[in-house]
Amino acid sequence: MADRFLRRAAPREIVKKLAARAVYERNLIEEGDRILIAVSGGKDSTTLAWVLAELRAVLKRNYRLAALHISSDFCSCCKKSILSQKLEEWGIPFTDLFVPVMGRLKEGRKMNCYWCSTQRRTELLKYAVENGFNKIALGHHLDDVIETFFMNMTEKGELSAMPVMLAYRKYPVSLIRPLAYAEERQIVSCADELSILKAACTCPYGVNSKRRVMRKKIADFSGGSGAVKRRILRALSGSDLLEE
Ligand code: SF4
Repeated sequence: MADRFLRRAAPREIVKKLAARAVYERNLIEEGDRILIAVSGGKDSTTLAWVLAELRAVLKRNYRLAALHISSDFCSCCKKSILSQKLEEWGIPFTDLFVPVMGRLKEGRKMNCYWCSTQRRTELLKYAVENGFNKIALGHHLDDVIETFFMNMTEKGELSAMPVMLAYRKYPVSLIRPLAYAEERQIVSCADELSILKAACTCPYGVNSKRRVMRKKIADFSGGSGAVKRRILRALSGSDLLEE
C-alpha cells in the first residue's frame, strides 16, 4: 500500500484498507462465514468489530457477525453497556459470558496470565463450536504480532509468531486476525475518531513488563517506522511462521 495513502487518509480509512488487504491476501473471510468476534471492551477488539461490520459492504460477501465478551471474577475494567451500545449501532449482536477464572484455580496455585488466557480461550472456542460459528476474530495488530515473535525467540528460544489465520485440527473453527497489518498507533487514531473508549486494563495481574521492554527495543531498532514493521511481517510470512 502506498505510504502516501497511509500518511494522508483518515485513520478509519487506513485501518479499513489494511484490514481489507489482510482479508483478501490471506483469504480470511469467505461467503457464508459465521464469525464470532472476541471483544474485551478495549480499543483493539472494538475497532475490529467496527471494521468487520464496515467490510460487509466492501467485500461483497455475506457473512454473519456476533460478539462475545468474557467476564471474569477479578477483571472489571470494561464498560459493557457502552460496548454493547456501540455493537448494536454496528448491527452486531452481543453476548457477555461469565467465566470464574479464579474459582477454577487449583489449591496452592497462583493466578497468572497464562492460566487466565487459557481458560478464556477454551470458553471462547467452546462457545463458538456450540453456537455454530466457524471463525473467531481476534483484535491483535501488527505490533502484537512482531512483539510476540521477538518475545518467543528471546524468552522461549522458539521461532513462532501469532498466525494471521489458524485452522484448528480438533475443532471446526479457525482463528483470524484481520488487524494484523495495522499498527497500534493507527488503531488508536481510528478508535479516537470513532469515539471508542480506550479502557485501560485494571487487572491486578496484568503487569507485562517483558512485553513493554520488547516494545521499546523494537521501537529503537525500527525507529518506529511502520514500513520496517511491515517488512518484518513480510519476512515472517515468507518463512510461513504466520501460516496455519
Ligand atoms: S491481565 Fe488479567 S485479565 Fe488479562 S490475561 Fe492477565 S490475568 Fe487475565
